[in-house]
Amino acid sequence: MEQIRHIIDGAEVDSASGARFHSVDPWTQQPWAEVALGDAEDAARAVTAARRAFDEGPWPRMGRTERSAILHRLGDLMTEHADELALADTTDMGKPLADMTKKDIPRSVLNFRFFADHSRLSTGEALPMDSGHHVYTRYEPAGVVSAIAPWNFPLMMETWKLAPALAWGNTVVLKPAEDTPASASVLGRLALEAGFPPGVLNVVHGYGPNSVGAALTADPRVDRITFTGESGTGRIIAGSAAANLTPVSLELGGKGANIVFADADLDTAVHWSIEAIFSNAGQVCLAGSRLYVQREIYDEFVERFCAAAEALVVGDPKQAGTQVGPLASAEHYKKVRSFVESIEAEGGRMRTGGLGDGWTVRPTVVTDAPQTSRLWREEIFGPVVVVAPFDTESEAVAAANDTPYGLNAMLFTENLSRAHRVAAALKAGTVWANCFFIRDLRAPFGGVGNSGVGREGGNFSRDFFTEPKAVVMAIAEAAS
Ligand code: NAD
Repeated sequence: MEQIRHIIDGAEVDSASGARFHSVDPWTQQPWAEVALGDAEDAARAVTAARRAFDEGPWPRMGRTERSAILHRLGDLMTEHADELALADTTDMGKPLADMTKKDIPRSVLNFRFFADHSRLSTGEALPMDSGHHVYTRYEPAGVVSAIAPWNFPLMMETWKLAPALAWGNTVVLKPAEDTPASASVLGRLALEAGFPPGVLNVVHGYGPNSVGAALTADPRVDRITFTGESGTGRIIAGSAAANLTPVSLELGGKGANIVFADADLDTAVHWSIEAIFSNAGQVCLAGSRLYVQREIYDEFVERFCAAAEALVVGDPKQAGTQVGPLASAEHYKKVRSFVESIEAEGGRMRTGGLGDGWTVRPTVVTDAPQTSRLWREEIFGPVVVVAPFDTESEAVAAANDTPYGLNAMLFTENLSRAHRVAAALKAGTVWANCFFIRDLRAPFGGVGNSGVGREGGNFSRDFFTEPKAVVMAIAEAAS
């Protein structure tokens, strides 16, 4: 069985307690890896290492060019080890291997390359003043970062946090989700090979409450907390951060609205709407899980959408051709199953889908459910979409905005003015018009309401992971 250990201060180590737990492959439902089970003591060891690496080590003091080269070297090594990294996440959480190699790995590598270049090339501001002074800004590394990650895009989410934090000269303690420890350990080893000094990137495995996660958010030696996960967990972490006044970035849940107007290109709308809810078996914060379709095309759209959903290949994530794998864990499968089993009782009609073999759920399309039902209100985080007709643009916008979440929304129309008007009216951190999931890493990424606090991406990440400083210079009169 695979052995996974922590990486603390440049070495692979077991937990101080010697405790271990198993990571379970959701397709075989069997344990496949034995993992060091960390606790508060291991978290404290890692923070001590990160603190020392920041306060005394070369990393924050290194020139940007040298740091950038190490980040690029890590990108090279990740590319060389792409198969190992892809297999790690697929075995841990059931994501199709093809998605890992085509999407998650390239994007994870890009996260490092982008922030390597972004930090090296970025500039500060010079602010000329009237009074014989001028001001300039410096972006100084913030210190020790606790990074706490979810299981749905393990490597991709982790690198999205690590790359800017490290590029800007911070040191990090990463806690991967307990269901997906494997890729983080491979990454930690590759980082050492790439030349990261000991203590700069530490990886500690374990649970959240009363464990590693809670310890990493309560430690006063931590300067930044970056968290991606459920909205409820985000509230707990915000409370913990508040006790130490530690700045916190929260990327939380979603219940994305997807509005298809009658004048949309239907092929485009069906293609992206399918991708938006069924990729990664719907375990996507950005999932387009609430679908509003204008009444004139409602029946035709639902028919084409259901046909496309039925054509998706559900099964073994390691088989080429599989598009929808199992849900990530027994616990998560039970949660999604309870939503599927409640469809009728909630007043909905299942048009296609339902429970599949093992921990799979077939792409499930629900119509007729009342807008007040759990199916419309709660994040299911599985391959289940609710669909309803609408008549007017204002009705669609009001329905889309009627949610406590606000991570993203989508709209499909060939009317240019409407596209801009509706994009402006939607309460969401990202709006995609006639597409989905297209990202520019300079753009702000994050949510409103229960979907989070703060933004990541480009300068937004820089502002979070640095302490911007103003230096005010007096310009003395020339001696005559
Ligand atoms: P989760 O909140 O259960 O766990 C996320 C991480 O937090 C895990 O590492 C977990 O161990 C840790 N954790 C749990 N309780 C903790 C505590 N009290 N203190 C410190 N750490 C704690 O979330 P999940 O089930 O792993 O992920 C799915 C959720 O993440 C969904 O809601 C999804 O929408 C959201 N998500 C959001 C984004 C985004 O960018 N907004 C991206 C991916 C996933």
